[in-house]
Amino acid sequence: LVSRKKKSENTIVDVKGEKIGDGKSHLVFGPCAVESYEQVATVAEAVKGKGLKLLRGGAFKPRTSPYDFQGLGLEGLKILKRVADEYDLAVISEIVSPNDIEMAVDYLDVIQIGARNMQNFELLKAAGSVNKPILLKRGMAATIEEFINAAEYIMAQGNGQIILCERGIRTYERATRNTLDISAVPILKQETHLPVFVDVTHSTGRRDLLLPAAKAALAIGADGVMAEVHPDPAVALSDSAQQMDLNQFDHFMKELSTSAFAR
Ligand code: PEP
Ligand code: MN
Repeated sequence: LVSRKKKSENTIVDVKGEKIGDGKSHLVFGPCAVESYEQVATVAEAVKGKGLKLLRGGAFKPRTSPYDFQGLGLEGLKILKRVADEYDLAVISEIVSPNDIEMAVDYLDVIQIGARNMQNFELLKAAGSVNKPILLKRGMAATIEEFINAAEYIMAQGNGQIILCERGIRTYERATRNTLDISAVPILKQETHLPVFVDVTHSTGRRDLLLPAAKAALAIGADGVMAEVHPDPAVALSDSAQQMDLNQFDHFMKELSTSAFAR
């Protein structure tokens, strides 16, 4: 169902009026994790100030260590919804349990399925059973074919509002957190009719690479870019080394919008 052979026109995913897949670039910013209302509202104000619409923030955080901050859960979703209403933004957040998908529909504009859950088939089926856009991230050890099949699981249940997101894969290279598989973007665009995003934060894990990676993503045909922004990354409860602060976000936006690849 996701195959370009089945449908030649691009799928456009409508997120509160933001038409993802329309040929323009769609940018998503926000903290790694929702920590407080004030923290999310501060970033939302900056996002709004740039004329952008899409805000991200994790409420259920799939952390490598069980002793690390696991997210605020439902409280985090409530904060996101409040901020989205106050700033007229659309919010994207990860859900990790099939049992929480129905509940999340009331709080979120886009449900994210994270890299660690790309082949959690029960979660994919649950995501396919609701009428809400899904942002599906590539697993860190998933082939492009496996990634496409994961999207197929969602669409097979009846939900065709899917955005694919390349977020880097694990290789032997340690200079970056993951290896951004930039060629996955045109391959996914050729093989499927779905919009494709690139998460420059988790793929590189390096603040200094966010801007060049974002330019590369747009140049190669990505429909959008996701990056993490935190009011004070030094004290962030997760991904402290790679989130941009508000000044860096400002610089990132100026540079990206004046680059040859801005759309
Ligand atoms: C995230 O976007 O918050 C996240 C955890 O990313 P990933 O699933 O790609 O690691
Ligand atoms: Mn993160």
